[in-house]
Amino acid sequence: MPGSPPLPGRISSRGKLLLEWHRAMLAAFGPLHWWPATSPFEVAVGAILTQNTAWANVEKAIVRLREMDGLAPATLRSLDTVALEEALRPSGYFRQKAAKLRALLDLLEELGGLTGGVSDQALACFAAIETGELREKLLSVRGIGPETADCILLYAVGRPSFVADAYTRRILSRHGLAPEDASYDELRDFFMDALPEDTALYNEYHAQLVRVGHLYCRKSKPLCGACPLGVFLEYEPV
Ligand code: SF4
Repeated sequence: MPGSPPLPGRISSRGKLLLEWHRAMLAAFGPLHWWPATSPFEVAVGAILTQNTAWANVEKAIVRLREMDGLAPATLRSLDTVALEEALRPSGYFRQKAAKLRALLDLLEELGGLTGGVSDQALACFAAIETGELREKLLSVRGIGPETADCILLYAVGRPSFVADAYTRRILSRHGLAPEDASYDELRDFFMDALPEDTALYNEYHAQLVRVGHLYCRKSKPLCGACPLGVFLEYEPV
């Protein structure tokens, strides 16, 4: 069953390989302590803003929101559309992202998460909801796709839901472990079926893969010779 942890002592050969990858990346980079944010709500905001843009642009929008107290959900809710879109402008696609944030706030309101107005507690309304059900609720929010939903689940809510991004796809495909056109859920299941169900492990693993993708596994001319995953390659991609 996708997402089920392997029984103790019965980790598959794929699981062992993935844990070796993890050790190699950890040895190269050390722990990366994701996600950079001051509250779970800010993580959720960042997960939406980071769609289709570099993190540096997200940071600029986060700074603008912080200056407006917009990282407090009740304040964010009260911002008019022009002010919200202006704050989000540096992150690109700012009109769509403003609408997505409002849709997330609608969900929080529906679940009672906005009553306290305290950003640290806004996602506490998710606590009683089982992970699969919560994932479905997040996916039902307009503009939240599986990668964003899993980022929120993993980094904001602390649930074991693996994030499989474009770097993950490229790395697995270049290592011959998944087809280039594998679906998001197939990539996610690839990890969740093989690795122990462990939030801290998934958290660090995704961060490490992003670091590998950013530094070495470029779209063209990957730097396999310097990459911590280079020793696991059978044939070097070009
Ligand atoms: S850069 Fe090379 S070794 Fe590193 S992940 Fe990409 S394909 Fe693998």
